[in-house]
Amino acid sequence: APPKPSNFLRTIIERELAEGAYAGRQWGGTPGDAAHHAAGRPDPAQVRLRFPPEPNGYLHVGHAKSICLNFGLARDYGGVCHLRFDDTNPEKEEQEYVDAIVEMVHWLGWSWDANGTSHLYYASNYFDFMYRAAETLIDAGLAYVDEQSADQMRANRGDFTTPGTNSPWRERSREDNLARFREMRDGQHADGAMVLRAKIDMASPNINLRDPALYRIKRAHHHNTGDKWCIYPMYTYAHPIEDALENITHSICTLEFEDQRPFYDWLLNALADNGLLQRPLPKQHEFGRLNLTYVITSKRKLKALVDEGIVEGWDDPRMPTLAGMRRRGYTPASVRTMAENTGASKTNIWVDYSALDIALRDDLEGQAPRAMAVIDPLKLTLTNWDQLFGAGHHEPCHAPAHPQRPELGQRQFSLGPAVWIERDDFAEVPPKGFFRLFPGNKVRLKYGMVIECTGCEKDADGRVTSVLATVVPDTKSGTPGADAVKVKGTITWVGVHDAVPATIKLYDRLFTEAQPDAGDRDFRDVLNPASKTVVAGYVEPSLAGLPAEARFQFERHGYFITDRKDHRSDAPVFNRITGLKDGWGK
Ligand code: ATP
Ligand code: MG
Ligand code: MG
Repeated sequence: APPKPSNFLRTIIERELAEGAYAGRQWGGTPGDAAHHAAGRPDPAQVRLRFPPEPNGYLHVGHAKSICLNFGLARDYGGVCHLRFDDTNPEKEEQEYVDAIVEMVHWLGWSWDANGTSHLYYASNYFDFMYRAAETLIDAGLAYVDEQSADQMRANRGDFTTPGTNSPWRERSREDNLARFREMRDGQHADGAMVLRAKIDMASPNINLRDPALYRIKRAHHHNTGDKWCIYPMYTYAHPIEDALENITHSICTLEFEDQRPFYDWLLNALADNGLLQRPLPKQHEFGRLNLTYVITSKRKLKALVDEGIVEGWDDPRMPTLAGMRRRGYTPASVRTMAENTGASKTNIWVDYSALDIALRDDLEGQAPRAMAVIDPLKLTLTNWDQLFGAGHHEPCHAPAHPQRPELGQRQFSLGPAVWIERDDFAEVPPKGFFRLFPGNKVRLKYGMVIECTGCEKDADGRVTSVLATVVPDTKSGTPGADAVKVKGTITWVGVHDAVPATIKLYDRLFTEAQPDAGDRDFRDVLNPASKTVVAGYVEPSLAGLPAEARFQFERHGYFITDRKDHRSDAPVFNRITGLKDGWGK
């Protein structure tokens, strides 16, 4: 395998592997039932990682970064990586999202059961253990039930300049705390009436250590545990426990969790000190978020794009969701390459969107069959055709399916008296440096013949309705002497008689600003009005009867894919993935 760009996480893992840091790790608890975990007993010298999405929305390109980072490190260091649903907050989580996330992680090329050690886990399966851990903390004098109102708690937390104030409930007895906590669990108190808090330090300079909440009362149906629980653990409490139970070695998260690390360590050490977990404990490592220019990745804002009808759903080809990117035509390999090439660093990074397109072109250049398509059709009539070849004659032509891959064979099509060309390949009055069709100029119809433009026809408004030309005899591509007539321009075309009509969707950036939601800017103010253009074009006859999700390079135009939803083999619909070169609108 080619060497991967190094990063600080690789450096840490390589050092730890050299030191044998993971040797002898055992399961640190009994999440779920024993059988559930039997198959997951870790190899003693493995790195163990996880990708822990909350199933409250669709995955986007930022998640792809985290997925590829975690699964990629596991692959490169002979370890394992779990997909773990961090589903401890019942209100926003849904099965629909669980299914969509599984589908997209698979699509990206990662799996968790191939070798029987990587797994799909649900944090909610650890609710019993988390509850037991909470009672253990109470027993150890490290947690208490606080009956202050939410407002009082907020006021007493203090801020960066002011230490917090102890709750009046902070010093009550273990027995009282335990009884109260069990009442919370048994549904004897209203939602929000009280919370279980860790007893750490209300004067800590790190506000996250000022007695953070561990459990809250919330009567809500959970997608996995149903109505079993009316108390739910807080994310910051649940997550370290999930990592420990799965014996994660490196809990990799984004930078905003840096201030949570002291609590992460406090909690796991407290549970280990009290016999609930075994050392060594997982360690949290933070890396910078990936931001792509011209893209927003906030789930809330993406949802607004969908709900407000700015795009046509979560899988709209303009969306930076993985579902949208798949539909647009990005390949899993291109997304993985972009994620891998952007490394991992200690600061949030902005990556130019072109990184994705470059990776896409690299992936498709050697793979995608070529084809000719006309996106903005203008009819060209060859006025001497019948005289040269006889009425009704169609001249067979061919072209390689791929210029560097002869094994893919030839595509067949034919030239006749009328062809579709691109409207902008003709100019009645040529601008400087224009080598394509204008009256008096000669060009080659690619893989066909040299023609000479003789004029055009226009409608009452002066719009060109067709171009007229004559065939220059004995210039057919591939025949002796075909190159005797020199031309400066070659244009693509499709025969009117054998063209396949196609709907072609030309997508562009959704926003006109590189950082659409920077500062207090409303992303709605910088929408690109031309982010989607639907045209009726023509493709060459070799593209009749295609399946969905077939990718091609349309010569001179870029990469296209048949739309996974709207395409029909008898009514083709193509999405433009990206142009052949970088640039606005291409
Ligand atoms: P929210 O907090 O709004 O629910 P989230 O994007 O943090 O959204 P999670 O489901 O919690 O969603 O994310 C799963 C994992 O993906 C987390 O570890 C998170 O840090 C990581 N992640 C999310 N966005 C990015 C990003 N832009 N770059 C790198 N990693 C990301
Ligand atoms: Mg989250
Ligand atoms: Mg988050």
